[in-house]
Amino acid sequence: MTDEEFRYLVRDWLAKHLTGDFAGLRGVGGPGREHESFEQRLAFDRELHEAGWTPLSWPREHGGRGASIEQQLIFHEEYARADAPGRVSHMGEQLLGPTLIEFGTAEQQRRFLPPIATVTELWCQGFSEPGAGSDLASLSTSARLDGGHWRLSGQKVWTSLAHVADWCFVLARTEPDSKRSAGLSMLLVPMRQPGITVRPIRQLTGTSEFNEVFFDGARTDADLVLGQPGDGWRVARFLLGVERGTAVFGQLISYRRELDDLVAHAKRTGAAKDPLLRDRLARAWLGLEVLRSYALATVAGEADSGVGPSVMKLLWSRWHKSLGELAIEVRGATAMVAQEAPYELDSWQRLYLFSRADTIYGGSDEIQLGIIAGRALGLLPSGSKP
Ligand SMILES: Cc1cc2nc3c(=O)[nH]c(=O)nc-3n(C[C@H](O)[C@H](O)[C@H](O)COP(=O)(O)OP(=O)(O)OC[C@H]3O[C@@H](n4cnc5c(N)ncnc54)[C@H](O)[C@@H]3O)c2cc1C
Repeated sequence: MTDEEFRYLVRDWLAKHLTGDFAGLRGVGGPGREHESFEQRLAFDRELHEAGWTPLSWPREHGGRGASIEQQLIFHEEYARADAPGRVSHMGEQLLGPTLIEFGTAEQQRRFLPPIATVTELWCQGFSEPGAGSDLASLSTSARLDGGHWRLSGQKVWTSLAHVADWCFVLARTEPDSKRSAGLSMLLVPMRQPGITVRPIRQLTGTSEFNEVFFDGARTDADLVLGQPGDGWRVARFLLGVERGTAVFGQLISYRRELDDLVAHAKRTGAAKDPLLRDRLARAWLGLEVLRSYALATVAGEADSGVGPSVMKLLWSRWHKSLGELAIEVRGATAMVAQEAPYELDSWQRLYLFSRADTIYGGSDEIQLGIIAGRALGLLPSGSKP
């Protein structure tokens, strides 16, 4: 099948399936909107799998579609172009799945990959703690072997979708008195058990997508450690390094739609007559062109300086955050109030507030700049040996 035929196939399937019960899912879900139509989005995710689209990038022998890079790019573009709903299973499919394929035992792969693929088990990521975010190696949640089980105690925070997850991949300290990145293990922990308490965190947007998660003697089987016990840092680094990859192209199409809507609004309301706003809208357009060019160069291997993912993360997070700020200025004073009961935020207000998080999660801007300074420029932090 040619890439053009593949594109037509995706487009046609989405057009036929975003109808009937799923018609209302267009544009629903995604960051800042995870609470929307959750059950229907779950059903749509399952439909995607049944039709053989997902998991898109997993090899066929592990139950994936085995799509080429070009096909993945096309799929994400068409998915975003169709305004298809935010996926609910991305943590399992895009983060844990590839890590299980790399480090999992045959038994772990048999147990966990199929329910991720069929979207019958949802996962969350238990890394950050109140005292360990950017500096993840300082984490203190501990796990000890007790008979045939690990017993966990400690606290995670900002755990996205923990309130709907069946399982959590938890980075925990399994060797007492170990320091920093030594003595950590990646444990696969069932969420629905008495030793786990999930407490939602209310966000700036008024919704609760992430949580505090407390482990108080929570248990998981002794063999549910991914990779070797004590080697969790290597496994976690692999998982964190699973790039957004081709999914970024779908993200860029959504950004284009947001910008187009904002430009249309500016024309309609006369805001575009303001020379300063015209200038900023033009800069936003330019920024998006740069983003797309860099993303294409990265996929083509032309931007390989070992810092490609950091550059991409910085470019898109800054661009999106400034689009949120621009949207509020284009809207003017009316953007400051929620319209009417039940006083939900409109899409621009939500964009402005939620995009504040873009420069924090997935590695903050400052952390990405540190990586670029070290790897691309050879500027080592003070105290490190040359
Ligand atoms: C929307 C959202 C969803 C998230 N989902 C999850 C999830 O599902 N699972 C999970 O485990 N975590 C999740 N996180 C947590 C996220 O990974 C952390 O917020 C992030 O790693 C930053 O850690 P921190 O919040 O502790 O901030 P800190 O690390 O305390 O940073 C505070 C500030 O100091 C700066 N800083 C820190 N270290 C340095 C340094 N060395 N040099 C220069 N500046 C520095 C940072 O850039 C930041 O500005 C999520 C966060 C958000 C916002």
